[in-house]
Amino acid sequence: MRVLVVEDERRIADFIGKGLSEQGYGVDIAYDGDEALHWVDVAAFDVIILDVMLPVRDGLEVCRTLRETGLRTPILMLTARDAVEDRVRGLDSGADDYLVKPFAFAELMARIRALTRREPAATGTVLRVGDLVLDTTTREVSRPGQHIELTTKEYALLEYLMRHPNQVLTRTMIAEHVWNYDFDNATNVIDVHIRNLRRKIDDPLPTKLIHTVRGAGYRISARQMV
Ligand code: CA
Repeated sequence: MRVLVVEDERRIADFIGKGLSEQGYGVDIAYDGDEALHWVDVAAFDVIILDVMLPVRDGLEVCRTLRETGLRTPILMLTARDAVEDRVRGLDSGADDYLVKPFAFAELMARIRALTRREPAATGTVLRVGDLVLDTTTREVSRPGQHIELTTKEYALLEYLMRHPNQVLTRTMIAEHVWNYDFDNATNVIDVHIRNLRRKIDDPLPTKLIHTVRGAGYRISARQMV
């Protein structure tokens, strides 16, 4: 999953960005409202974390502008004060949820999980494809009789595949959602991660779930291809 963090205070932006990266999210940071609008133009995000207090163009205006363009990406607003009118203005401008600063990182993660659950493909915290189970709360992955240990990036890649079962995901889509903009040599890195995922998830069992769609990309599916 890829997250855009919009926050002018570098210390806070870096803290959020680092924490999300450690959890396997692809993260891009915008330090003002114009930069945020530019990022949304050029990249696809799964969640936007938007601070209200920004120079030039504040978070409320950014949020309204994004919604006016028809963007439906979940937006989590960060507000400095726990004032009712601030929260109301935030939600009225098109935000899906808000978090009052200062906040615990665990709560930020929980809010992001809740917002991404609202996607039609993902209801609840447990994703399943065939007998493969991924719990987005505990980050545990298993197939019958075995617990599967994944690296942070392998987990992020698998979660992205499992949120879009039976769909062909191109390497560009994977790169955009699992990594971030500063990502060179994407094809090679993605193929290596897919190979490692297959070794852990598919090699031990007769039913293969990760399928290569030649010339297109990858698909996770319990349906067997002929
Ligand atoms: Ca700020």
